[in-house]
Amino acid sequence: MKKLLSIVVLLFIAASVFAQAGKKPVIGISSTSGEGTSASAPLTYIESVIRAGGVPVVLPITLDPAIMSRMLDCVDAVIMTGGEDIDPLKWFGEEPVPGMGEIAPVRDSFDIALIRMAVGRGLPLLGICRGHQLLNVAFGGSLFQDIPSQVKGSNVKHSQKAPRYYGTHSITIQKGSLLNKQIGLEKVAVNSYHHQAVKDVAPGFKVTARSADGIVEAMEKIGTTKVFSVQFHPEGFTASNIDTFLGIFQHLVKEAGCFSQLKG
Ligand code: MN
Repeated sequence: MKKLLSIVVLLFIAASVFAQAGKKPVIGISSTSGEGTSASAPLTYIESVIRAGGVPVVLPITLDPAIMSRMLDCVDAVIMTGGEDIDPLKWFGEEPVPGMGEIAPVRDSFDIALIRMAVGRGLPLLGICRGHQLLNVAFGGSLFQDIPSQVKGSNVKHSQKAPRYYGTHSITIQKGSLLNKQIGLEKVAVNSYHHQAVKDVAPGFKVTARSADGIVEAMEKIGTTKVFSVQFHPEGFTASNIDTFLGIFQHLVKEAGCFSQLKG
């Protein structure tokens, strides 16, 4: 754990140096809550950003809007990472069902405030798994709290017991969507580690991929190429040198470069 923390700190220092040189775009990665003891992100996200030509920095959790705002001044795009379930009572007005899993209240508050602030100031943003669900909730959408007990007729296994670099269920991708352009495919096998899912899609967003049981596996904000999300974990493939989904990260880094130039 200490080693991981030092790697994260070193990456942060390295990132600041590169950012000042005005070269590679800096990609902020939301941190896992670490039960209040640390601020870190899995190396799969960090390595995926590096492989796509970006510079990763980990964004620690804070509830101070001024600090959050200065954090965002230092990045050219944001990745919202996977993790706990989202508190349904607080964020989309539903009582918790028995199948709801572990929640992280402080992380919820940070993540949702960060998403609203980042998208509000025009930063490119990629949501992954929990991040995909948070993006939907942050802009007024809702979730299935537990697919097995709430999605009638779902006969697809979304909690795979296979390595993270291996796709176990297929998704069908809308032609012409961002995801379609990023990876060049209309059908692909993805990995799957979730039991929550997007239910009502937030206003201003559209679904761009679904699994065979209709679960929303990708979304994008209408009218922009900068804000998009996936329910699966592309970083699980990319960090293992499997390039099927590398285009997702490359697209984010490209958008981050454009944002960086605009920022001057
Ligand atoms: Mn799935």
